Amino acid sequence: MSRKFYWVTITKSYLSAFALLIIVLFLLSLPSSYQLGVLTATLVSTSVEYDIVLDAGHGGIDSGGIGAGDVYEKDLVLDIVLRMRDILEGAGLKVGLTRDTDMDVTHLAKSKGTRHQRDLEGRFIALHSGKIGMSVHANTSKSSAEQGAIVFYRRNSYIGKQYATSVLEAIEQVQVLNHDYPVPRSNLMLIKAKPPVVLVEVGFLTNPDDLAKLTDPDFRQSIAEALCKGIANFYAVYRSEQSE
Ligand SMILES: [Zn+2]
Repeated sequence: MSRKFYWVTITKSYLSAFALLIIVLFLLSLPSSYQLGVLTATLVSTSVEYDIVLDAGHGGIDSGGIGAGDVYEKDLVLDIVLRMRDILEGAGLKVGLTRDTDMDVTHLAKSKGTRHQRDLEGRFIALHSGKIGMSVHANTSKSSAEQGAIVFYRRNSYIGKQYATSVLEAIEQVQVLNHDYPVPRSNLMLIKAKPPVVLVEVGFLTNPDDLAKLTDPDFRQSIAEALCKGIANFYAVYRSEQSE
């Protein structure tokens, strides 16, 4: 083996190792929710049991956002979701919840990972037991001026956009909008579930007006009713399209 050839061989294997390192670093740099999405999207084999699955964000050790006076996102969104369950069940829909108490959803995860990854995977799997789904959150911002609701849907999903629009139009009747259009996202794992799922931020805990609203049970009832109206309007059309 000539010296030159030897050198080329070594350089080649160095290059391959370097390329591999770059790929690994790239994968590690992706948000964990993205990695998890790649891992589990094809593995979910949950059977559909519910018309809708509602996901109250956070829970247990994860308080979510915190507003002045120790107001926890996990508590507010659970309260809203429990109200929604009552309303939707009253309308004759079969409703599943990812949680109905102050806990996380790690117990539903099938793979290993950090607590956060297993929690997200548990919710992702649970959302597949519904024909449609909704994840409910409250927002925080560095700016206390930022306020209002946001509805996220899966980027490039026509049906997701229809759903999000229906929900946004209903929210608009009771709450200020942060974005007056549904916002497409490609990096939120839960909205990448097979059934149409939207993620709703009902307001900002860091904004005094929104915080006052969200800590008022009457407002939480109003927003729960609005979310259900948005769901029902979309679901009626969706169900008839599915059965055609
Ligand atoms: Zn949240």
